[in-house]
Amino acid sequence: MIELKNVKKEYDNGFVALKNINLHCNEGEITALIGPSGCGKTTLMKLINRLDNPTKGSVSIKGKDISKIDPVELRRSIGYVIQQIGLFPHMNIARNVGTVPKLLKWDKERIKNRVDELLELVSLDPEIYRERFPSELSGGQQQRIGVIRALAAEPSVILMDEPFSALDPISREQLQDELVRLQREIKKSIVFVTHDMDEALKIADRIVLMKSGEIVQHGTPEEILRHP
Ligand code: ADP
Ligand code: ADP
Repeated sequence: MIELKNVKKEYDNGFVALKNINLHCNEGEITALIGPSGCGKTTLMKLINRLDNPTKGSVSIKGKDISKIDPVELRRSIGYVIQQIGLFPHMNIARNVGTVPKLLKWDKERIKNRVDELLELVSLDPEIYRERFPSELSGGQQQRIGVIRALAAEPSVILMDEPFSALDPISREQLQDELVRLQREIKKSIVFVTHDMDEALKIADRIVLMKSGEIVQHGTPEEILRHP
């Protein structure tokens, strides 16, 4: 589904953030990328999302090199959730969540129904929150909006960079469970970055441990627990 072959990323200043990454994420699986700050997790996510290009090697999705996928098609295939939330401050919640469906020219009724459905999914009453602006929401609520925005057009790949970091424990658990349910039902490939091994063990099918730009271990939670 997602495949990285011999991927190296050297930044302009000469720093090598990824050395020689080979990684395969299967369809319908949740992969957790875990490792200390600065080990290259965000860099890896950006390459999968084509926000940046590898210096060497290739990244492909469903067997297609992503440098050859049409940008709009790529936006539809990948939902991206970033740590800093990244909601558009001048758009209300409905428009934020509806951004990609709108880009894909869904009709208004379909977008509205989808937005309401997603708001309900994260326990935000559509009647109350649809018209609000991001600045009128708590940090945790904004993060939930960031997550549902990525799900809006049912992408086949969902990338999440520390998606739960600002959530209170209850919302965190709800969203984790939601993610697992979603993946079981509609077979999304989800890659998420976390610092939290308990979180990785709880929701991931595969765990990828990184250190200094390299993958040092890769396996199921059971395998990781057996050989820590
Ligand atoms: P992580 O997400 O694991 O914390 P990053 O992928 O953000 O790590 O960063 C990996 C390394 O690459 C860090 O040492 C960081 O300082 C460096 N780095 C990130 N972005 C750039 C950049 N644009 N130019 C130079 N070095 C960078
Ligand atoms: P509104 O009642 O906010 O004027 P519209 O009837 O214009 O809504 O659109 C219906 C739905 O389509 C909105 O709730 C929103 O989800 C989506 N939508 C409309 N315009 C945009 C836009 N510019 N960007 C993103 N989503 C949009």
